Amino acid sequence: MKTLITITLIIVAATSFSIKGFATGLTDAEKEGIQLMREEEKLAHDVYIFLYDKWNMRIFSNISNAETRHFEAIGYLIDNYELKDNAKKEAGIFNNKELQELYNSLTEKGNKSLIAAFEVGALIEEVDIADLQKLLAAGQDSTITGVYENLLRGSENHLRAFTGQLENQNAKYTPMVLSETAYTKIIEGSHQKGDPNSCIVPNKNCPNNNNMSEKNKGRGKGNGRGKGKGCGQKGWN
Ligand code: ZN
Ligand code: ZN
Repeated sequence: MKTLITITLIIVAATSFSIKGFATGLTDAEKEGIQLMREEEKLAHDVYIFLYDKWNMRIFSNISNAETRHFEAIGYLIDNYELKDNAKKEAGIFNNKELQELYNSLTEKGNKSLIAAFEVGALIEEVDIADLQKLLAAGQDSTITGVYENLLRGSENHLRAFTGQLENQNAKYTPMVLSETAYTKIIEGSHQKGDPNSCIVPNKNCPNNNNMSEKNKGRGKGNGRGKGKGCGQKGWN
């Protein structure tokens, strides 16, 4: 009897282990990548909201809406792989120390002038692009790859939008993270729409269950770009 119980326990333990193994099935590097990108998207969102409050330029609110969708897309991965969500709810607060320092320094810089604020936007997008490229190059689970590729397209659009604003101000942006070649290739590219069928998240409608978007719905500061619908939008993805 004892043996039977022991064997049963072993089988149950083995089964639950393998089920769990299949459910998460990710390497530590893939999990860390998701956590990093979750907070990077939050950083982009929180900085753009800060800069919009300061400068009242529509580009910051438009792109912050796109960052909410990016943040939600990573939230979908977190749910999908049953990971713990390390992102804090409070604006400007981060679990990742480096991102906390980056937020502090970028908001300080962006507060100084409008040109500095656009440079901050371009730098955030460079960091995003570089990290996404690095993660994609390392190879990811196919669902993660689909999400990252869409986020990458969005970030490239954002980088072009911010450097375009700098050009309007007769300021030339010098890349700080990407190589000159990689940067030029992106800047010379044209606006990319995310795959309208994937809605950033492959095989799933756009998630809209995140409290960040709930919060933003109440802001309504002059954003005329199909707010609240992330799918196939003409906006900034
Ligand atoms: Zn983003
Ligand atoms: Zn972005």
